[in-house]
Amino acid sequence: ALLHHQQQQGAATPTPPSPGYDGSQSNVTTTTITSPPGDTSLLAQLTSNPIFVGGFGIVGLTASAALLRKSLVTLTTLLRRQLLVDLEIPSKDKSYQWFLHWMSTHQRQQLPQTAAAYSNKTGPTRRGRRRSILSYITPRTHHLAVETTYAQLPGGSISTRFTLVPGPGKHLLNYHNTLIQVTRERDIKSLDLQTGSPFETVKLTTLYRDRHVFSQLLSEAQSLAQTLTQGKTVIYTSWGSDWKEFGSPKRKRPLESVILDSGVKESLVKDVKDFLASSSWYYDRGIPYRRGYLLYGPPGSGKSSFINALAGELDYNICVLNLSERGLTDDRLNHLLTNLPERSIALLEDVDAAFGKQNSRVQTAEDGYRGANVTFSGLLNALDGVASGEERIIVLTTNHRDRLDPALVRPGRIDREVYIGWASEGQVREMWRRFYGEECKGEEEEIVEILKGVGVLEGIKEVGSGEKAERVQMEGEETWGRGISTAQLQGVFVYNKGDPQGAVVMLRKMVSESLGT
Ligand code: ADP
Repeated sequence: ALLHHQQQQGAATPTPPSPGYDGSQSNVTTTTITSPPGDTSLLAQLTSNPIFVGGFGIVGLTASAALLRKSLVTLTTLLRRQLLVDLEIPSKDKSYQWFLHWMSTHQRQQLPQTAAAYSNKTGPTRRGRRRSILSYITPRTHHLAVETTYAQLPGGSISTRFTLVPGPGKHLLNYHNTLIQVTRERDIKSLDLQTGSPFETVKLTTLYRDRHVFSQLLSEAQSLAQTLTQGKTVIYTSWGSDWKEFGSPKRKRPLESVILDSGVKESLVKDVKDFLASSSWYYDRGIPYRRGYLLYGPPGSGKSSFINALAGELDYNICVLNLSERGLTDDRLNHLLTNLPERSIALLEDVDAAFGKQNSRVQTAEDGYRGANVTFSGLLNALDGVASGEERIIVLTTNHRDRLDPALVRPGRIDREVYIGWASEGQVREMWRRFYGEECKGEEEEIVEILKGVGVLEGIKEVGSGEKAERVQMEGEETWGRGISTAQLQGVFVYNKGDPQGAVVMLRKMVSESLGT
């Protein structure tokens, strides 16, 4: 505005007449207007103006600050490129969960170390001192995220597990005296379509010269994950189209702890082991390397317990699938059964609840909701399965064999059916001995007599012979009157722990009440 003003002033100054002017307009007064003294030096005028100087100073300062900042950023980027190294772990990668878990345990382990270093009265060694300083400047993660595993098993039981892991944001980590920056980022713009959860990444940054720690750290995280599952059975449940670990790995159930009628357990275990040993037989003939089992019988007879023990015996994991689950479509079911985690048994529990004969091949969800989930043909397709490289062991369980559609249990889909029924005399005796030992012979006989007396131990008859022999239930025996389940026996024995007489009294009372005798 100042400059503009000066220009206007200049324009108003009349031009002096040129020497060749004819003088006819002599009436025009020639006036020589002398310029003001300051006008001779515009610069001087400007610099003498404090507002201008101030403004110019600010502009100059801002410009140099911006320049400095830009050069700093460029320098940092350059240094970063030269000196630092990043490792990115996307949430889709297996090592993602291993790392988060490893980090939370690693930081927990760091705490006592730090405390010990400071409370050491004799003074820490040089190395110790270095560690303690690093521990001091490495802040503990104050931003945690909770990961809740919630699932409802087909039996109706609900299990919830909370795991605290480092939350999104930046964390500093001291790993064997190497500082690592951990950045957990959530990409809210893109979602995993299968699970509906946002994609995440964890970025580890450290000095370029320390880059070898990454592989060391990852293998530590992996072995930590392995030790958690060693000697244990991992239960997976479906999560979208993927399998997700359900709860913490369970201790393997020993086969001896499941008491089935004589020979049943042994023959089943042998069958599965034979199958696992004959992959080439299947591949040579070009047939899918799969085997389906159906375990049927009254509730509480040990079907699920047996599968758990079988998985433990084979060192396999279990993938539990609830066919009545809302949102489980044919495609997802197929995908799930085709992509089982390594070394695992697919367990489809209470299959009659989803596809009984009454439902005439229309699925009924647990809440009575019909259709829109897995269709019967979808289930058959998934069971037949496309040829996959891995072996597949599929186990179906039901409390009502008679309610199943014949198409579901035809050979090829179900290769072996096994009845696991009410407790037989042998099972009652074996269970008794497991709980009370060999000494309480008298009470053992009493128990057997009570049960025999009401015909409970005769509820099963054998049909056929040899290989084809089948143990079937007598009609209408799904009441106390016809059988007692091993789970019921276990209940009585656990209640009367160390009290065999109490167990006899309780059982007698229960039998008489249920039969009205
Ligand atoms: P199912 O799957 O046939 O309904 P479960 O295996 O769930 O029965 O058994 C329920 C409970 O009873 C479990 O705690 C299990 O330990 C016990 N149980 C049932 N049957 C047996 C068995 N045959 N041997 C040992 N325990 C059994």
